[in-house]
Order: sequence, then structure tokens, then C-alpha cells
Amino acid sequence: MGLQDIESRVRAAEQAAGRAEGEVSLIAVSKVQPLDRVEAVLGEGHRVFGENKVQEAQGKWPAFRERLDGIELHLIGPLQSNKTRAAMELFDAIHSVDRPKLANAIARIAQEDGRCPDLFLQVNTGEENQKAGVLPADADVFVAECRRMDLPVRGLMCIPPVDEEPSLHFALLAKIAERNGLAGLSMGMSADFETAIALGATHVRVGSAIFGERAYG
Ligand SMILES: *Cc1c(COP(=O)(O)O)cnc(C)c1O
Repeated sequence: MGLQDIESRVRAAEQAAGRAEGEVSLIAVSKVQPLDRVEAVLGEGHRVFGENKVQEAQGKWPAFRERLDGIELHLIGPLQSNKTRAAMELFDAIHSVDRPKLANAIARIAQEDGRCPDLFLQVNTGEENQKAGVLPADADVFVAECRRMDLPVRGLMCIPPVDEEPSLHFALLAKIAERNGLAGLSMGMSADFETAIALGATHVRVGSAIFGERAYG
């Protein structure tokens, strides 16, 4: 447990999978964590973080960014359309582009502002009713739509069902990405990031294994 341990496990998993060293980006998911734990990970030199709520991130990260250079922020949680502009101003990447309406809102703001975070399109690989993301069968069309809007689509993201073997979902996401010519794969969390790296993850989102258990959320 802890940043150093997870970093070395990421590097070992890269090597085991025959991937280049440093190819996988470790996103430290700091949602709900006490500030002193986030400070500690920043103090160890880590700069890539993930949050799942815009408002929570707004309350936390501008102050850190004033003090420290090179902080890279990833939004990994659902994004309401009315928070699109705020998210685009704060985050370097949005992993939760899960519907055409949101893609449209992002495209409109990107045109106005002349900039756009890197985007990952979320695929509901488990076809779960309560989960965000487009269905696997709709993914190709969604990728094409986003490209038509000139959006910077870097890859795909998934959150496998809690009670299923994650490797099947990671392999499915990798297959959809490959046939769409997308290099980025945001998949793998504390319990399964090594499996995700073996199946091609480029971004793993690890929270509790770095920071300790969350009190809630
Ligand atoms: C919270 C969260 C994570 C991190 O989960 P851990 O199990 O704590 O590693 C990863 N991805 C998403 C989308 C999350 O909401």
C-alpha cells in the first residue's frame, strides 16, 4: 500500500506485459481523501490525480496548483451538462464522456474557448442499468460522432461490474478501442490495475490502494 508500492507494481506490470516503461499513467484518485493524505502524495512528487466530482475538485485543487507546478487533473466521475464549462476549465482530461448531449456541450464550449481537455468516452461494458456510458454496440457510432465534432478523443474508459471478472470487460474495451484506432484505455482500479495493464490500459485509476480506505464515497 502507498504510492511507492503502487508505482513499483505498475512498472512491474508494464514490464511483465512487454510494455514500455512509463507507458502507463498512474492516476491517484484523491476523491474524499483528507487533505493531509493528498499533501503527502504530492510531497512524494506525484502530480497526476483523479477526482469524481467537479465541485469537490474546485474546492481542493486551485490552491495546490498555486503552490505546485505540473499538476495534471483527470475527471473520472459523471459530469452533469451544467457543470461542463467548469470541468473543462479545471481538468486536463475528462474520462466520463458518456452521452451525445454531453459531447455536444463540450464541443460548443471548445469552439468558444479554443481549447479542450483530452477526452475518454465511457463504455458501459457490463450493460448495467445504473451505470453511465454508451453500450458496447453503440460505441463505434459515438466515437465517430465525437470525431465529427472535432473533439480530441484520446481513448475509452470503463468501470466493470463489481461482481464480474474484470478481464472480460478490459478485453472488450481494448477491442472496441483498437477497431476505432484509439490509443488510450482508461481502465483498472485498486483491485485490478495489474490485470488492466496486462490487457493494454494506458491510464489506471487507483484510489484506496494509494491513500487508504475512503471514509465514504
Ligand atoms: C473511486 C474511483 C476509482 C478508484 O477506486 P479504488 O478502488 O479506490 O482504487 C477509480 N475509478 C473511478 C471511476 C472511481 O470513481
